[in-house]
Amino acid sequence: MHSDSLPPWHDATRVLHGDAGLSQDADVSPAIHYSATFKARDAAEFAEMAGTPRHPAYYTRYGNPTHARAAAVVAALEGTQTALLTASGMGAISTTVLALVQAGDHVVAQTRHYMSTAKLFDEVLPRFGVQVSIVEQAELPAIEAALRPNTRLIMLETPANPTLVLTDLAGVAALARPRGIITIADNTFASPINCKPHGLGIDIVVHSATKSLGGHHDLTAGVICCSEALATRIWPMHTTLGAVLSPMDAWLLLRGLRTLPVRMERINANALALAGWLEQQPQIEQVHYPLLASHPQHALARRQMAGGGPVIAFALNGGYEATSRFVASLELATQAVSLGGVETLIVHTAAMWSGTMSEAQMAAAGIPPNFVRLAVGMEHIDDLRRDFARALGLM
Ligand SMILES: *Cc1c(COP(=O)(O)O)cnc(C)c1O
Repeated sequence: MHSDSLPPWHDATRVLHGDAGLSQDADVSPAIHYSATFKARDAAEFAEMAGTPRHPAYYTRYGNPTHARAAAVVAALEGTQTALLTASGMGAISTTVLALVQAGDHVVAQTRHYMSTAKLFDEVLPRFGVQVSIVEQAELPAIEAALRPNTRLIMLETPANPTLVLTDLAGVAALARPRGIITIADNTFASPINCKPHGLGIDIVVHSATKSLGGHHDLTAGVICCSEALATRIWPMHTTLGAVLSPMDAWLLLRGLRTLPVRMERINANALALAGWLEQQPQIEQVHYPLLASHPQHALARRQMAGGGPVIAFALNGGYEATSRFVASLELATQAVSLGGVETLIVHTAAMWSGTMSEAQMAAAGIPPNFVRLAVGMEHIDDLRRDFARALGLM
């Protein structure tokens, strides 16, 4: 581990050496510990292994040496004492929330969350007697007004779908800390390269590592970053719910993490350039991106984000058909959900819902027919811009 007496490493160094000291062999590339269980040399060691919480090499649902290495790198990036790996981002979120609340508690969540997170708060928690308040995340006073004597948890996500609305992380932490309320931030859209919620006072940072942390659209994983004390509270729920990551996917995650800073640097630059260019095109009605001066919370974005991340949302001038044609005619943006990987992906939001909602229902849910979500990848910006120009009929 890096000595406390030296200045902290930069992220570029953390991703390569954050797991130093955890190697159990001479390999430079980490081994994949593809074993569900681990042997003890004698009875005393077995008793020690069985009795140690979060032992890295006892039984893989409890811990695994490959998990430990990937978790150490993410914890180093987020600046938390430790991290737990899970089988998906939702595994991380559900495990964390269910570990920390019980019947009679009150929790606060945002109006805009990843859909399955919203379901956890809207549908699952109330079934178990937890009171839930949903508040407008852009308004700090609304969050403060929602707090009650029995509030245990505030769930945050920034930036959030569909319009990249931000939550003031330091502001919420300042409300929560004196009241003893635990804060969780879903940092998936920003990634730890662009935002470090724990440094702003947030207790727990969760990720869908399926997105930027893995970065290659090839694995599903989640991470819970927190203090040792909170990990001790969350880990028993993790072993109970069993959202355990496969060692192979932990290794893929570790491999992806090694290049996260350079990938994000490129993706941030591509996304900012493309967002700025799109905003100038008459065929585009509106662009949402935190680092554009036109974003309603641009000052907050500058305070808490070092880069804007991969996701741009925009509305085309035109209806459902025109938007659908535009999305289909892009050569370099693949129609697929997810974000933060090396390839550019695009989603026509209304098309995603057209199978399950009528146009009237979509209008009521605030899903305009001309809305598009773009997850910018690492292609050359000139090629991306040219492809978008062609799809907009500019050339
Ligand atoms: C994708 C995503 C999740 C869920 O992650 P999975 O790995 O698909 O379970 C949660 N939060 C955000 C912001 C996401 O983008």
